[in-house]
Amino acid sequence: MADQKRDYYEVLGVDKNADDAALKKAYRALAKQYHPDMNPGDAEAEKKFKEASEAYAVLSDPEKKQKYDQFGHAAFDGGAGGAGGFDFSGMDMGDIFGDIFGDIFGGGRRRGPSNGPVRGASLRAVVRISFEEAAFGVEKEIEITLKDDCATCHSTGAKPGTTPETCSKCGGKGKVVYTQQSLFGMMQNVQTCPDCHGSGKMIKDKCPDCRGTGYISNRKTIKVAIPAGIDNGQSVRIRDKGEPGTNGGPRGDLLVEVSVTRHPIFQRQDMNVFSSAPISFAQATLGGEVRINTIDGDVVYEVKPGTQTDTKIRLKSKGIPSLRNKSIRGDHYVTLVVQVPTGLSGEAKEALRQFDAVSGATLTPVSGGKTEEKPTKRKGFGRKNKDES
Ligand SMILES: [Zn+2]
Ligand SMILES: [Zn+2]
Repeated sequence: MADQKRDYYEVLGVDKNADDAALKKAYRALAKQYHPDMNPGDAEAEKKFKEASEAYAVLSDPEKKQKYDQFGHAAFDGGAGGAGGFDFSGMDMGDIFGDIFGDIFGGGRRRGPSNGPVRGASLRAVVRISFEEAAFGVEKEIEITLKDDCATCHSTGAKPGTTPETCSKCGGKGKVVYTQQSLFGMMQNVQTCPDCHGSGKMIKDKCPDCRGTGYISNRKTIKVAIPAGIDNGQSVRIRDKGEPGTNGGPRGDLLVEVSVTRHPIFQRQDMNVFSSAPISFAQATLGGEVRINTIDGDVVYEVKPGTQTDTKIRLKSKGIPSLRNKSIRGDHYVTLVVQVPTGLSGEAKEALRQFDAVSGATLTPVSGGKTEEKPTKRKGFGRKNKDES
């Protein structure tokens, strides 16, 4: 974190208008060059690889790209120290690997009988939260089905007292090679073993508890700490609550996406809140205190005399807290809308007529009208002359 972060475009060596294809191409070239598998034990290469992966993850996602273009690194910063391991970009590197490395490494990098430890897949869940919960953070409980190692068979899938046998079809390799005669000569075709489905093992007597799968699915309640400032569509990453790994690999993560319910009054754009508030004609004219709804509750605002309808005011720091630092907040922009009174009582109407007569606010007085007793001072349209004559 002490290091100055490089600009993502600079990292990938592309310009700001680079399209998807250009981004992908740039990232693929860097990933190929710096991938840890290609540079075992090279910390510098790993750092470069991570940097490029992060840049690509952001710039390849239109929403994140837009945020980055607007706020720079600040848009995603401070993740490590944030609330409960929040993943600011909501990125799933597994997806990117699948997408990008599928063709670099010939596919199947995460699947099949690779014999080495393989990290489990990520699980996804969605949690619905209110506008205020998104603004101020909340803890939610979600229910998901998690696979756990079967204790009965120690996740071998074999009935206790028996052991899985090496698959005789593939000799434990999980793959079988078919040799075929074709027009072009002998062709070798490698396929996943149909007998063991790639595991290399055959279970004769299945474990009764997990029916040979090695896992038991349980409904689990998981607490999710949702940080203040999160926005619709962003995800919280919970480490090690995904699918179990294979061959001793770690569990995958659980990605909980938040779906923010629309608010009846407030709208949000990044850290700013927008709303409109009604003010009466008298308040607009005379000025005075009005109550305005904010996410902190009502605040009293002093309206200036002569406020026109659709006047926009800014309530500083009444917006959404920043994800990286909740003491920093956006602003709340309020559009003041002057209400034209309806359903007035006779008395109120009469008062308004008198007001009209006294103020001379009528733009085009109708001659012979009830309020015409008194000629009024009126600017413009030569009426002044008429009045004076
Ligand atoms: Zn079992
Ligand atoms: Zn087999």
